[in-house]
Amino acid sequence: MVEDKVVFITGSAGGIGLEIGIRFAEQKAKVILSDIKEEPLQEAVNNLKEKGYSVDGIKCDVTDEEDIQRAMDELIDKYGRVDVLINNAGIQHVANLEDFPTEKYELLLKIMLVGPFIATKIAFPYMKKQNFGRILNMASINGVIGFAGKAGYNSAKHGVIGLTKVAALEGAEHGITVNAICPGYVDTPLVRNQLEDLAKSRGIDLEKVLEEVIYPLVPQNRLLQVEEIADLAIFLASDSAKGITGQPVIMDGGYTAQ
Ligand code: NAD
Repeated sequence: MVEDKVVFITGSAGGIGLEIGIRFAEQKAKVILSDIKEEPLQEAVNNLKEKGYSVDGIKCDVTDEEDIQRAMDELIDKYGRVDVLINNAGIQHVANLEDFPTEKYELLLKIMLVGPFIATKIAFPYMKKQNFGRILNMASINGVIGFAGKAGYNSAKHGVIGLTKVAALEGAEHGITVNAICPGYVDTPLVRNQLEDLAKSRGIDLEKVLEEVIYPLVPQNRLLQVEEIADLAIFLASDSAKGITGQPVIMDGGYTAQ
């Protein structure tokens, strides 16, 4: 389905991005992992290469336009095309509005909204020339509904869904689809660390936080697994999904259905 496709994934040294990279590599795509963190990136690339997959690693800070341009130039030099761009890099900061540092707010927007804008801008001419492209922006249910304490994250994720729609419209006649993946709570170190903090503040353990705070919010009573998000990314990048564009695609165990 995605065999031989050239796939560039930002923020993919671990978590969801890496799992997406693994899934694409298993399906014989040519995967370029990238991240601001060099060491885990190299480790991930080495592990996958040892398994015989076609994987490269390029260090790239998505807050730096020149860095994104350099990464894209490098992969175009090697493969001559970019078929799938996955804007996945992300961070979190939780604070009430009045305590939310402006520089943190700006940083969240830079990583999760401006970064995807720049990467899309750079990839678009190649995708237009190929008359083929798939862009997946990792949004969140935070891009669809509000969450107290998450001004930066929520604004960035709502914004990236707007960007997704504009890019989908501009890419539609050129064989380019652009969609936003909107996961609910996924079982990743990022989410577990946040829940550990909550557990500590309540003097209970992580399992209790899951049972008492998180599961009651999720009709399926569970955290999503990274493999499920990766499978959705594969589907959206495949020919079967060529009619889906400009959409926030929600996978949240029923959270936003309530
Ligand atoms: P993660 O922390 O495991 O992965 C994020 C990656 O982004 C890290 O490897 C990090 O080093 C990288 N990164 C941070 N700043 C960067 C920068 N400036 N340039 C390049 N890379 C940078 O988190 P995750 O849970 O795997 O999240 C991946 C994406 O999925 C994020 O966009 C996140 O908002 C989104 N998401 C996650 C969940 C969840 O439950 N985990 C839910 C909804 C959406």
